[in-house]
Amino acid sequence: MHIDHIGIPSDHPRAKSLYIREMLVNGFRRGLVVPEGLIAHGRGEAYDYLIGERTTKTAQRAIEAAAATMLLSSRAVISVNGNTAALCSNTVVELAEVAGANIEVNIFYRTEEREKAIKAELEKHGAKKILGVGLKASARIPELQSERRRVDPNGIYAADTVLVPLEDGDRTEALIRMNKTVITIDLNPLSRTSKVADITIVDNIVRAMPALVYAARKLRRTTTAMSLKRITDNFDNSKNLQESLEIIKKSEVQ
Ligand code: ATP
Repeated sequence: MHIDHIGIPSDHPRAKSLYIREMLVNGFRRGLVVPEGLIAHGRGEAYDYLIGERTTKTAQRAIEAAAATMLLSSRAVISVNGNTAALCSNTVVELAEVAGANIEVNIFYRTEEREKAIKAELEKHGAKKILGVGLKASARIPELQSERRRVDPNGIYAADTVLVPLEDGDRTEALIRMNKTVITIDLNPLSRTSKVADITIVDNIVRAMPALVYAARKLRRTTTAMSLKRITDNFDNSKNLQESLEIIKKSEVQ
C-alpha cells in the first residue's frame, strides 16, 4: 500500500476525493481559497458521489461542444476563482494556450491579496498574461451588486465566450444578458448556473479541465470550422442536463 505525501493511502476507497479536499485546504492555507469555497466544494462533492466520480458520456458530449465553441470564438476568456486556481491552475493555462483564450481572475470575495495570490499561482504554472487584477478590473457587469461585477474591459467585458467554472447563478445570468456565450463546469445539474448556461459540463473540474484541453487539442488538429459549428449546433444543453439527472436517479447502493 502506498501512502502519499499528505498521508492518504492509495487504496483508500475515497483516496481521490480526499486528495482533492487536501488540495483545497492547501489552497485555503495559501490564501487562494476562502472558507465559503470549501463549503461550495462540499455541495459539488455530493453530486460527484451521485454521478459515480467519473466523466460520464453525457459530460463528454458537453466537453466536446465546449471545446468547439472556444475554438470558434474570437475572444474567449477563462474566468478563474480561488477554487479553480487551487484545483487546476495547470490545465487553465494549458487550455488558454490551446484554445487561444485569455485568463481573467474573478472572485466574489475580492481582496488585493487574494487576487495577487491567484495570479501568482497561475504564473507558477506558466501563465504569461492575466487579466482582472487590481485596477485592471475597471469595467462593471450591469445589474450585479457583488464585487464579482468588476471585470477587465479587455477580458470578460469584451468577450464573446466565457468559461466560468464553479459559478453562481446571478453572475451567469448577468453574463447571458450581456449576450456572452457561457460555458460552465458544475457538478450540480440543478443549479441556476447549470440551467442558464449555454453549455454545462456536469463533471468535477479536476476531470473536466484535462478532458477539455484534450478535446480542444484534438479538434484543433483534425476539424474544420464547419464541422466545429456542426458540433455546437447539435448540442442541446437542456437535454444534456436531463441526461445527467437520469444518471443521478439511477445511482444505486453497490
Ligand atoms: P447557483 O447560484 O448557480 O444555483 P450555488 O449557489 O450552488 O449555485 P456556488 O456555491 O456559488 O453556487 O457555486 C458552486 C457550484 O459549483 C455548485 O453548484 C457546486 O455543485 C459546484 N462545484 C463545487 N465544486 C466543484 C468541483 N470541484 N467541480 C465541479 N463543480 C463543483
